Amino acid sequence: MQNYNIGIYSHTNEMPPGFDIYFNYLKDVTGEIAKPVKHSHNIISCFADNKTAKQNPELVAYSGKNRALRSEDKTLYCDWICHSHDKYSSGLLKLIRETDKSNVAGVHLDSITMPGPDYCVCDRCQAKMRDLNLSFYEFRMNETTNFVKQISKITQKELSITLYPDPFYQERYGIDIAALSKYIDYFLIPLYDISYQSLYWLDILAHAFAKRLTNPFYIMLYAKNINLENLKNAARLVSKYTKNIIISYDNDKAAEINKMIRIFNN
Ligand SMILES: [Zn+2]
Repeated sequence: MQNYNIGIYSHTNEMPPGFDIYFNYLKDVTGEIAKPVKHSHNIISCFADNKTAKQNPELVAYSGKNRALRSEDKTLYCDWICHSHDKYSSGLLKLIRETDKSNVAGVHLDSITMPGPDYCVCDRCQAKMRDLNLSFYEFRMNETTNFVKQISKITQKELSITLYPDPFYQERYGIDIAALSKYIDYFLIPLYDISYQSLYWLDILAHAFAKRLTNPFYIMLYAKNINLENLKNAARLVSKYTKNIIISYDNDKAAEINKMIRIFNN
C-alpha cells in the first residue's frame, strides 16, 4: 500500500510524471471553460464566475448591502453567483455530465460555498427560505449540500470539494461538513500563504482538520513564488497530520516536495 499521495493543482493541463494525483482546471473563476483533462481530476469553479457576473449581473449574490462583486465587496477575490438561479446551476450540472463522459479521473468542485457570511439574501433566496421554512444558516447549508448531492448522482467518477479553511465554523460559509461527507470521496483544504515564514497557524489548522474530518482529505500548499526551503518546512509539518498533500501552481517546486517526502519516508 502506498504511504503518501502527493499531487499537483494547476491552471494548465500539464501532468508531469511521478505524482500520485493530478488536479487541473476545467473552469476557473474567470468563467472560461477548457476541455476536460484526461486522467486528471477536473476542477470546476462553481459559483465564483467573473464572466457570468459581468454578463448577467442579475445572477450575482446579494448581502443586503452590496452585491458579491469585487468592486462592491473588497473582501472578495472574485465575483460570485447566487445559488438559487436554477438555470445557472443546470449549466454546471450539464458541464459535469459532459466531463464525466470523458476519460477523466474525477471531478473536483471549487467555490461551492456562499461568498461570505452575509450572503445570499436576494429576493429569490428569501422566498426559498420562507417556502422551506429554514433559518438563514440552515438555508445556506441546505443549498450547498443539495447542490453537491445532485452532482454525486450524475458522476460515477471520484468526487471531491474544496473546503473553506476554517475547521470550526464552516456554517459561516454555508458548509455542513457532516452532510457533505456522505456525497464526496474526499476534501481538499487550501492552507495557503504567500511566504510560509511562520508556521504555527498551519500546525493548528492541519491538526484541527485531522481531528475534525472523518473523510479522507488533502492539504494544499501554495507554491508560486514561495521560497523552496519554507515550502519544504511547511510540507514536512503538514505531513505529521496527513499523507495526502497537494502542491499548487508550481510543478517544479511540487517535484522537489515529492522527492523530499519520498526520501523522508523511506
Ligand atoms: Zn440569492
